[in-house]
Amino acid sequence: MTSKTSVSERTKASLALLYSISRELTAQLDLRELLQRILQLTLQAVGSRAGSILVLDELGQASEGAIAFEGKVHDHSMEQLRDTYEHGLAGWVVENRQGVLIEDTRKDKRWLRKPDEEDGDPTSAISVPLLAGERVAGVLTLARRKGGPFSEDDLALVTAIADQAGIAVSNAHLFRAEQERRRFASILQEIARTINQTLEPNQVFEQILEQLKRIIDFDSASIFLLEDHLFRPVAVLGFEDRARALSFTISLESDALSKQVFESRKPLVVEDVQKIDTWMQIEGLPEAEKIRGWIGAPLIVRDRVVGMLNVDSYKVAAYSADVIDLIEAFADQASTAVANALLFDESQRRITSMAALTETATVITASLDLDEVLQRITDRTKESMEVEAASLALVDEDDGSLVYRVASGFGADRVVGMRLMPGQGIAGWVLDNEEAVFASDVQSDPRFFPEIDQKLGFESRVIACVPIQVQDRTIGIIEAINPRRSSLSQEQIDLLTGIAGLAGTAIIHAQLFQQTQSARQRYASLFEDNVDSILISDLAGQVTDANKRAESFLGYNAEQMLELSIFSLHEPNPNHVPDDLTELDPSQTISYDSHVRDNRGRMLPVEVHVKRMALGPGGFIQWIMRDISERLELAELRTDMTSMIFHDLRSPLGNIISSLEVLQSSFDDEDETIQSVLSIASRSSRRASRLVESLLDLDRLEAEKAVLNKTEASIGGLIAEAVEEIHPTAEARGQFLRMNLAPRLPPVSMDVDMIRRVLINLLENAVKYTRAGDHIDVSAKKADDHLAVSVRDNGPGISEKDRDRIFDKFFRLSGDSRPKGLGLGLAFCRLAVEAHGGKIWVDSEEGQGSTFTFTLPYL
Ligand code: ADP
Repeated sequence: MTSKTSVSERTKASLALLYSISRELTAQLDLRELLQRILQLTLQAVGSRAGSILVLDELGQASEGAIAFEGKVHDHSMEQLRDTYEHGLAGWVVENRQGVLIEDTRKDKRWLRKPDEEDGDPTSAISVPLLAGERVAGVLTLARRKGGPFSEDDLALVTAIADQAGIAVSNAHLFRAEQERRRFASILQEIARTINQTLEPNQVFEQILEQLKRIIDFDSASIFLLEDHLFRPVAVLGFEDRARALSFTISLESDALSKQVFESRKPLVVEDVQKIDTWMQIEGLPEAEKIRGWIGAPLIVRDRVVGMLNVDSYKVAAYSADVIDLIEAFADQASTAVANALLFDESQRRITSMAALTETATVITASLDLDEVLQRITDRTKESMEVEAASLALVDEDDGSLVYRVASGFGADRVVGMRLMPGQGIAGWVLDNEEAVFASDVQSDPRFFPEIDQKLGFESRVIACVPIQVQDRTIGIIEAINPRRSSLSQEQIDLLTGIAGLAGTAIIHAQLFQQTQSARQRYASLFEDNVDSILISDLAGQVTDANKRAESFLGYNAEQMLELSIFSLHEPNPNHVPDDLTELDPSQTISYDSHVRDNRGRMLPVEVHVKRMALGPGGFIQWIMRDISERLELAELRTDMTSMIFHDLRSPLGNIISSLEVLQSSFDDEDETIQSVLSIASRSSRRASRLVESLLDLDRLEAEKAVLNKTEASIGGLIAEAVEEIHPTAEARGQFLRMNLAPRLPPVSMDVDMIRRVLINLLENAVKYTRAGDHIDVSAKKADDHLAVSVRDNGPGISEKDRDRIFDKFFRLSGDSRPKGLGLGLAFCRLAVEAHGGKIWVDSEEGQGSTFTFTLPYL
């Protein structure tokens, strides 16, 4: 072995060995197999039968290796490896980063002697570090008993092998880490995918636990969410009684483990929870007693701990610190899923509360009956807010107190009718301050008024109370009591505020509707029972309503009525009613006499009152059709009678007048008495005759049948004749008649007899109303194209409102002191003047006298 040849032979063999090792090493990437192979090859190369190879992780801990004895590589435990490393030669090598050759291990303390190791032949050992760059990646150790101690050559060879192995190991190591990372990444990815497949929170939580099984063994596991310092379970696995397991909560204050998880924000591994004082036993949950090994990992969303993931095992020390990374990575994934699910849940709830609000709106507005509206509001509040009770109180206008009008849920019937004064209780406070209250601990709230609770035998925990406002005025409050969850969510608060808003509008609508209803009923009875026919049409004239009288008057039934157009029944007077009904002024009622056609085509005389009613879009037209057939018949009868009487009076009167004239001329002028009696008789009979003529003219002029017997005449002459006719009466009453005629008045074409009667009429009236000693002035003057004749007196005058009406037929001013008449004189004057194309009017001041003026156009 010491000869040159053998050395070079050995060197050759060593080189060949190194070459094959290097090939094998580069080909092998599985660390475990690689280590076994290196050990095997090295044993052969140096003729040794025992040894070990150790690989260290980044922290310098033995993580993998191989052991050989009796020439064979055996299975090993990590403990064996660690032992060798920590107490044996390998430790020294790593520490000193250099190889060592021990000729006799018995003389070297660095050698770890196994208790069962025989003290027989001396043992030689070599131990070299596996270097990967600067780092010591492991240790290769060999021992030889037979064949003498190792040589320096052996050391050199082993060192060369170790150098190669160091690189290979480090590669394999890297590869393995990469492999591991990839595998884990793909598991996580898959977990994330499965978890994120659903967004329904409960399903997400359950998925998380299902997926957790793939990365860690456990007997039971749970997910908790943090709410007000309470961990509340949302998903559990491995408990017989799931409902029970889901029902208990862990308080941060009383549970040391969850508190530590919450505060450290890191997974916590516990060897045996039964040794922890605060570990709780839960009644009805036998599994809790069996739990020993435990992991609690925080679920962190946007830097905030939102929950906790628990993994339990029935074995003591089932989990060690090396699962922390794994659990942390998993918890990260789970947190994202939880966050998404919670977001989804939140948006879902927002949608639900929006939907609840819309639904509430529909339900509430579906009715206009106030009591029903109120009941619906409270029912919907209780339902959609998920509370034990809801109630609504309205302000009593009389004393400003709050009266509970409706309630839903516990003690509803007893709440109704209860009264709170402003400021009393939470509801009274809300009314007073016009501000919502969300009290999460009612019993200790100073505003709380416990009397109602006492009366009902109820315990309010949480109260949300919102004012119901309409146009800045608080008309009541709405209250939701004891939500099913421990506290009120923002969505619930928003929802109640929304409901209160709707309630305000709905209540006002219902109240308005009630008022409108009664107004409508009043109008309906006025309409239905009216003695006049009333038709309602739209602006296009289509009949939309008709009262009973209209139906009986026109002979149509209600249904037929609605198919008619107003224009098929009646032709509106074009002088009053515009063609386009939309142009009607709603502030005016238009009245005229006309006809309406009945179902048999008869034209019935009616007095029509048309009014546009501003109701709804555009509005409607109301047509009142008063039956005037009786009135017309009467008028006709009267006309017939008067004209008959007048005709019959006319000829005898004419005879009397001419007989009187004959008598006057045949009697002696000297006999004054006879003359005066005759002239009285003759004046009176002329007056009677004028009256008859005027009445006949009145009829003729009214019927526009007047045949004017016009001749050219001087107005001055006519005035003189009239004054002369009236003079005796005026004189008898101590009145003075004065004439004031403008010079050169042109002649006018006129019915002389008629205008004379107009003048006499005006003068007679003036005489009637003038006191003794006063003047009556008659004047005539010329204007542009007409003559104006005025009769002025100092009588009582005529009030403004009567000034037009005195020219109407049969119109007489009342008053005991006024002389009685028929009220026909001025009517005749107007018709006569108008028939000449002139005008007549009166200027007057009450108590100061009147001036009647008429005009006559000339040429
Ligand atoms: P009558 O025959 O009743 O006088 P008229 O048509 O001549 O009827 O007059 C109508 C009413 O007008 C009278 O009732 C009277 O009240 C009022 N009237 C007429 N002329 C005068 C006047 N000069 N001064 C005051 N009132 C008058």
